Amino acid sequence: MTHETTPDPRPSRTPSTLVRGRWVLTAAPDGAATPAVVRDGAVLLQGDRVAEVGTWADLSARHPGAAVRGGPHDVVTPGFVNTHGHFSEGLVTGIASQYTLWEWLHALIDKVNPVMHDAAAHAGTTLQAIQLLRSGVTTANDMFCSDPGTGAPVTPGVVRALDEVGLRGVVSFGSGDADRDFGFDAIAREWDALRGAAEGSRLSTFRVGISVVGRQTPEALERSVAYAAEHGAGVHIHLQEVREEVTATFQRTGRTPVAHCAHEGLFSVPTIAAHCVWVDRDDRALLAEHRVGVAHNPVANMILASGIAPVAELRALGVDVGIGVDGPASNDAQDYLQAMKAAALLARTRELRATAMSAREAFEMATIGGARALRMDEAVGSLEPGKKADVVVLDGDSPALANVHDPYQAVVFVAGSREVKEVWVDGEPSVADGDVVRVDPAEAVRAARPVAERLVAEAGLGRLSALTGGPLDGTERF
Ligand SMILES: [Zn+2]
Repeated sequence: MTHETTPDPRPSRTPSTLVRGRWVLTAAPDGAATPAVVRDGAVLLQGDRVAEVGTWADLSARHPGAAVRGGPHDVVTPGFVNTHGHFSEGLVTGIASQYTLWEWLHALIDKVNPVMHDAAAHAGTTLQAIQLLRSGVTTANDMFCSDPGTGAPVTPGVVRALDEVGLRGVVSFGSGDADRDFGFDAIAREWDALRGAAEGSRLSTFRVGISVVGRQTPEALERSVAYAAEHGAGVHIHLQEVREEVTATFQRTGRTPVAHCAHEGLFSVPTIAAHCVWVDRDDRALLAEHRVGVAHNPVANMILASGIAPVAELRALGVDVGIGVDGPASNDAQDYLQAMKAAALLARTRELRATAMSAREAFEMATIGGARALRMDEAVGSLEPGKKADVVVLDGDSPALANVHDPYQAVVFVAGSREVKEVWVDGEPSVADGDVVRVDPAEAVRAARPVAERLVAEAGLGRLSALTGGPLDGTERF
């Protein structure tokens, strides 16, 4: 055999890919060099970046050697930015929805948190990341919530799972030391472990998590801000999800949680706040003044009966508002298209006005709005040259998208997860032909089942979970 003289019969690695669509929705701002909508368009991907956006006729003529994905009837969009979620709830979905938030924390989350471990983090994250990808998410901002133990850290399992499935992560660990038997140092140890895992990952970046202000001692809040500043990290926190939280913090500090965070210097680091349902005029002004991003979670807010966030008022003040699915125990589906649709529906129902949120506004919140809220809009959130190649292709040959009269309405109101045909993350396919390609979903399900049974048994969820023989009518109370 003389390899030197025999040409390699395998095709060389294609240097570029053209993703084609009847509609390319770029989420580029008005006035940008890239138009917001390209009819009969294409996106040229080179390596991990978007290289060009233009018409199919032009790009295909100039790049005849590029591989072609998508098709002449498809809808091409930026990957969706999920601005809030909890992979820590990945093994406890469809449970305890009979409770409002604080009851739900007591009945479910406070029982799961002490017994969480790395294998459960990995198994739960894998299940949920698969579902997020199938609904077009390419960036997931997560807050893993559990009690930090003295044993091995838990959260590296999240980063490992995201790298395996091919989903970009903004990973944080949120806990609190108030009235608990562990101290801040235990929380910081978990942050160190998660930060180290993220630094070793191509797709994940680290943020400091704070579950809620009320679960932090004053010293812990101060040290959290210092930790974020020291490591150049942003913060991911829940703020004013329910009225009880506002009242409790006001009684303790004399300020609302938003005002308390501003006073304590938290907003001196880039902060994304989940929910902001019960924010008054002063709170809203503070969020705008400090450029705090807001993650709006319409489905979870409805399931837990928390209320309706004043999204229009926040946006009018210039606050960057993105959309989140929230955790799989509080939503409970990890379906981003469902959450995006719910955002538009809830805004319209709140104001009894069909123009309260247009399909285009919901789409922009789901893409570039979420990226801005995370201060990642230089890299993701729109299809513009130089940005990361995070792309979604919706199947224009599906019955749902056979006749697209308005591409924004088609994406926001018509498309479901089954229309998600391809998802590219960082220039590589994570979903092809409608399913994930980098892991075997059936194997992920098989692996997760015994881990979930063990978690439910150790957490003592017998009265809530049918996995351990609980009742099945969803009415079990304390
Ligand atoms: Zn949450």
